[in-house]
Amino acid sequence: MNNTPAKADQGRYGLGYRGTECLNCGHPLDLSDKFCSNCSQANSTKKLSIKDFLDEFFASFISYDSKLLKTLSSLVLKPGKITRDYINGKRVSYTNPFRFLLSLAIVYFLILGITGDFEQIDFFPTQEKASTFDLRATIDTLDYSNQKEKEQMMAVADSLNFANFVLRYGKHRDSALNANPRSYYETLKDESGLSRFFKKQDFFQTLFQNGSIRTFDDAISKYGIENTSENKFAFTSGKSFARIKERPGDFIKTMVSRLPFAVFFFLPVFALFIWLAYIRKRYNYTDHLIFSFHITSLLFILLIISYLVDTIFKVSSNWLFLTIFSVYLFQALRKFYGQNVFKTIVKYLFLNTIFFILALVSTILMIAGNIITY
Ligand SMILES: [Zn+2]
Repeated sequence: MNNTPAKADQGRYGLGYRGTECLNCGHPLDLSDKFCSNCSQANSTKKLSIKDFLDEFFASFISYDSKLLKTLSSLVLKPGKITRDYINGKRVSYTNPFRFLLSLAIVYFLILGITGDFEQIDFFPTQEKASTFDLRATIDTLDYSNQKEKEQMMAVADSLNFANFVLRYGKHRDSALNANPRSYYETLKDESGLSRFFKKQDFFQTLFQNGSIRTFDDAISKYGIENTSENKFAFTSGKSFARIKERPGDFIKTMVSRLPFAVFFFLPVFALFIWLAYIRKRYNYTDHLIFSFHITSLLFILLIISYLVDTIFKVSSNWLFLTIFSVYLFQALRKFYGQNVFKTIVKYLFLNTIFFILALVSTILMIAGNIITY
């Protein structure tokens, strides 16, 4: 045994304070054990002084910081290396990939949520309540200091308009509804399937907007609507649409705040395709999932930097950072899976295509999901 104590053996970690049983979990210990082999608490029976307490507090910060720094530098500077290290068992020196990605996603969407002034749309006077759902035109008239932010809002408005169009296609609402809701509703019963559902939804939305009903019970008692699950569902989504129309900014804010969680539905599916592309490699599904967590973490880092650069210098640097990401992704695939350039190009193109299809599908699903639960 080494008789000259290292720095970590001094103070409360010194030999004189060691016990034969862990104070945290009761695991039997030897006096030579610096830490419990069961729960890794330090083997020290000394009562904490203020200095010990502060030391412990800062030590945990410093160890977290060094983990974070190592994770960041390895991820940014050596594409593919961090994933390789992690799945080969070098885990303690890196931050957990899932937690790392979740933190980055939350930071990114917090920045968006704080700086994006979505609510100002709500206070814009709505001229004609019954007119088309023209959020884009409303945003266009608003004063944005940051041009990129305005573009983002426009993009959200477009997808909302698209969702609204999809959900309300084939609508032929006429004055019949307003003149006599009850008999208008009777005519809907002849319609079939989806068309009937969307017309009912539109029916409820209109009644909700002009204040005739507030709850589903109102609809039952006032207009003799049957209490079926289809009607209830049509009522809920109609009501959501009415509320979105009333306060679109609020809705966008809710949606943006839920975006980080969409990533975690998207990635497991994407990892399945990576697994398919590299089916002959000895990696299992979890390995591919960790790879996609690391890749997405880098994407969020670039998005955060890009956003900060744009805000500070009033430029649009998206294209630059997306180019960096494309190059990085290629390098990471090459380094992690270790195949030649030609094979990597083929898989790179395949995975890119899948990525965009999945992104499109999950965007549509998410907007639909948000409309229903809003
Ligand atoms: Zn223990």
